[in-house]
Amino acid sequence: MDFFYTQEQKMVRETARKFAESTILPAAAGIDRDDRFPREIYRGLAALGLFGVSLSEQAGGSGLDTTAACIAMEEIARCSGAVGNMYAIPVEAAQLLHEHGNDSQRAWIPRILDGSAISATGVTESDAGSDVAGMRTTALLDGDHYVINGSKAWVTFGQVFDFMMVFAKTTREPGHHNISCFLVEADRPGIVRGRNEELLGMHGLEDCQVTFDNVRVPVHNRIGPENRAFKMAMGNFNFSRLMMSSMALGMARAAFEDAHRYAKDRRQFGQAIFDFQAIQFMLADMSMDIAAARLLIHHAARLFDAGQPIAKEAAHAKLFTTDMAMKHASNALQIHGGAGYSRHHRVERIFRDVKLAQIYEGTNQIQRVIIARQVDKEMS
Ligand SMILES: Cc1cc2nc3c(=O)[nH]c(=O)nc-3n(C[C@H](O)[C@H](O)[C@H](O)COP(=O)(O)OP(=O)(O)OC[C@H]3O[C@@H](n4cnc5c(N)ncnc54)[C@H](O)[C@@H]3O)c2cc1C
Repeated sequence: MDFFYTQEQKMVRETARKFAESTILPAAAGIDRDDRFPREIYRGLAALGLFGVSLSEQAGGSGLDTTAACIAMEEIARCSGAVGNMYAIPVEAAQLLHEHGNDSQRAWIPRILDGSAISATGVTESDAGSDVAGMRTTALLDGDHYVINGSKAWVTFGQVFDFMMVFAKTTREPGHHNISCFLVEADRPGIVRGRNEELLGMHGLEDCQVTFDNVRVPVHNRIGPENRAFKMAMGNFNFSRLMMSSMALGMARAAFEDAHRYAKDRRQFGQAIFDFQAIQFMLADMSMDIAAARLLIHHAARLFDAGQPIAKEAAHAKLFTTDMAMKHASNALQIHGGAGYSRHHRVERIFRDVKLAQIYEGTNQIQRVIIARQVDKEMS
């Protein structure tokens, strides 16, 4: 299928794969065990220019496209789902600031791209997850400042961020018409970081609750126009869902490769278990679903770069890829038998890591809601 890809996209795959296999793979089990942010690896990805791969040259990026970012993600996540997850953060932050930020906010972009500044995003709250409009955090205007009060839950890089993009309401009314987004630097007084969440997988994300207690930010820290951030967040989900899909795709590939290798090595009843048709069929389904997922993702990426609306296509990609990755991580573990249920084999880690992909960037139930709505619009 390589004829689909440009020379530049192939080079990105080669660069990302080389770094992932030589540097991420040997560290992956340790990152999982220690549950600490691997700053050196993060900087290594930045040094290769991978954080700005889909960003225009004028914005400081490489001027490639969304497919290239998806390809890089697939290769990184194939060697560590958690590092893949970390990779998404700067790619998406730079994109958001480039599209919606003012000059002083865009000044963060070079530091995001070289890995010296770490961003985080706060949308979710303990009582407002899928229902984003149910958020309670407020940012009330006081002269030339907004005063932010509230708590954000599950913040990836919550412990280590240098600035956070915080979504908050400028009035106390219900609904989404009053949501704005603010760039909040980590050294502003009133920011309290909670304890690290103890996660099933994806260790190293430094995920925690972040509370804002009368945090004052100047008006020029607002990203985009006042009260338009709901639409901005929904628009950014299109891009981030393709990144998450590619992350799950990389993990599915790793599970498939491990399952194939194990099936060839492991002997029972005097033969390699690969020779049992039950095992071959599981591997055949993995091969087919991985290929189908990649087509869905890269199709949506091309439409996105062509400026087409992709709410349905991004949801197709996210839903199909993350469900198939979870199913095949489970089947790959099954092929390993009892050994798969132990930490000796990386399939155990993939099984834990990949579950998250069905939950965030909009749960897979929410993806079905989006698809049904879009289909209804198209067909009515
Ligand atoms: C490790 C991790 C990292 C995260 N990082 C971030 C981050 O950096 N920033 C951030 O803002 N958030 C982050 N999140 C939050 C994540 O986006 C939310 O967990 C996710 O959106 C789901 O919200 P919830 O957990 O409140 O689940 P809920 O919304 O409470 O959903 C619970 C269940 O109900 C279902 N459900 C809800 N509404 C509907 C509906 N209308 N129709 C059908 N089913 C429905 C859901 O699909 C789900 O199965 C992270 C979460 C985790 C676990």
